[in-house]
Amino acid sequence: MSDQKSIYIHVPFCVKKCVYCDFYSKTHLSLIPDYVQSLLKEIERRSGLKEKIDTIYFGGGTPSLFSIKEVETLLQAIGGHFSVLRDVEITLEVNPGTVDFDYLSRLKRAGINRLSIGAQSFNDDKLKFLTRIHTAEQAINTIDDAGKAGFDNISMDLIYGLPFETQNRWLEDLKQALKMMPSHLSCYMLTIEPGTPLDEKLKKGLFHPLGSTVISTLFKKTSQFLSNNTYEHYEISSFSKGRRNRSKHNSKYWEMMPYYGFGAAAHSYDGKTRSWNHQSIDMYIKALASGSLPVEDRETLTREQKMMEMIMLRLRTLEGLDIEKFQSLFRVSFKKQFRDVLKPILDGSLGYFKGHRFGLTLEGKVRLNNIVEAFAGKIF
Ligand code: SF4
Repeated sequence: MSDQKSIYIHVPFCVKKCVYCDFYSKTHLSLIPDYVQSLLKEIERRSGLKEKIDTIYFGGGTPSLFSIKEVETLLQAIGGHFSVLRDVEITLEVNPGTVDFDYLSRLKRAGINRLSIGAQSFNDDKLKFLTRIHTAEQAINTIDDAGKAGFDNISMDLIYGLPFETQNRWLEDLKQALKMMPSHLSCYMLTIEPGTPLDEKLKKGLFHPLGSTVISTLFKKTSQFLSNNTYEHYEISSFSKGRRNRSKHNSKYWEMMPYYGFGAAAHSYDGKTRSWNHQSIDMYIKALASGSLPVEDRETLTREQKMMEMIMLRLRTLEGLDIEKFQSLFRVSFKKQFRDVLKPILDGSLGYFKGHRFGLTLEGKVRLNNIVEAFAGKIF
């Protein structure tokens, strides 16, 4: 296992909640200064000068609500308490409704070297349905400004599969995205999460979601279109312009590498144990003010949980599961233990063996959840 770790900083603040979102975030922006002070305390308390850090990720929520000074202070604190490598990837998620050229230029000077821009769509009807705080024009301007500010590693988030989505409308979004030549794209299928305002609307019959066949077709079209345009479909929702533009940070999650998570609701993993911080911002701030760590609970992963996670995470990726690694870690024969699961997958051309790896075809990735469930049935 690599001895390099990642740091994730959770920013649980948003200007306004989007109807589809079930991430933990609040709109009490006046809490941000206290929250940043608490983050600094957590970084200090969990410091590990021997730990080499190769990726840092500001995620949320809306990290672009932090001032430049706050970003700088946090990066300085991380630099003072950990051994940050010279070629570290430092990503910050940006919501187009919250930044301008000046902010982006200063962000670049502060040390951020990768942006993940939550454009979501370049169609105002779609943005309205999603209740985003920005327009298509603002999204385009933000991406343009980011390039002018000197960012050459820009990822865009896009959402598809809205109730009125057609193949053509989605392709228009993708074509507009490619005009701006992002180094990376994350394309997420809209999911209606229980308890969200969108879920309420659905229950009231205010819209009809797309059927699963249409959704699967959109997923496959996305992969084909972006692959034809030289983007590598390296993870179920992620596409990169060549291997070097993959998200180094997210790739480490998919490889089950250890990471620190700082902030309310953030998770950490040390290779054996997973811990998670208080979700409530108040409780997070109070715990640190009282001199303790803000950890709500922790669990040591069982052998079965680790097996399951490895299968679930690796089947999302282009490279798939490294069977030799799996067998040496868990002391089982992959083909024997999962014979009954593998047969229908191979018969249906949903998966394949290549050298010492097992991966899913595009058709298999459409059925990822069912396939993962079938594996779970043989583990637990
Ligand atoms: S901006 Fe992002 S994190 Fe905030 S509510 Fe919208 S989708 Fe959720």
